[in-house]
Amino acid sequence: RSGFAALIGRPNVGKSTLLNQLTGEKLAIVSPKPQTTRNRILGVVTRPEGQVAFLDTPGIHQAKGQLNRYMVDVALQAADEVDLVLFVIEASDKVEVGPGNRVILEQLQKLGKPTFLVINKIDTVPKLVLLPLIDLYQREFPFAEVIPISAKEDDGVEELFRTVLSHM
Ligand code: GDP
Ligand code: MG
Repeated sequence: RSGFAALIGRPNVGKSTLLNQLTGEKLAIVSPKPQTTRNRILGVVTRPEGQVAFLDTPGIHQAKGQLNRYMVDVALQAADEVDLVLFVIEASDKVEVGPGNRVILEQLQKLGKPTFLVINKIDTVPKLVLLPLIDLYQREFPFAEVIPISAKEDDGVEELFRTVLSHM
């Protein structure tokens, strides 16, 4: 099995941290400052079971300035080129989708690609708060899979990789 997957999501949710954890290399710059990833970075993970190329993209904003518009385009174009989209959000005890994420999901609907909901930073919240959050997101979009992870603590990342492969 093999294929391409894109990491799509708002700035700072941990897309680059996830890519680095998946590949075991510091390919993508991780920063608490949003917008650190301006261009696309490709990380290839090869295991006996298969190979997946992950595209890290700049986060999608509601486009205001020129640069933001550019980053939205880069991210959506990446989503258009892959077999599978990993839509990344961060765990929060605020149970809401938010305008930024809603805009992304609307764009992703149009592409019609199989899309996972990847909930990152689960190390920062009690497990129970994930349930209403998952419920809410599943009402917004027909996700193929929902996968809670902590990219930083390497929790659920292997499971995510296996699930990605199983869809290829
Ligand atoms: P990106 O903009 O989506 O690529 O986000 P980054 O990977 O640059 O990460 C943004 C910030 O979130 C950095 O300070 C990371 O260390 C932090 N971060 C990423 N993943 C996790 C995680 O699983 N748990 C926690 N607590 N922090 C994380
Ligand atoms: Mg990044």
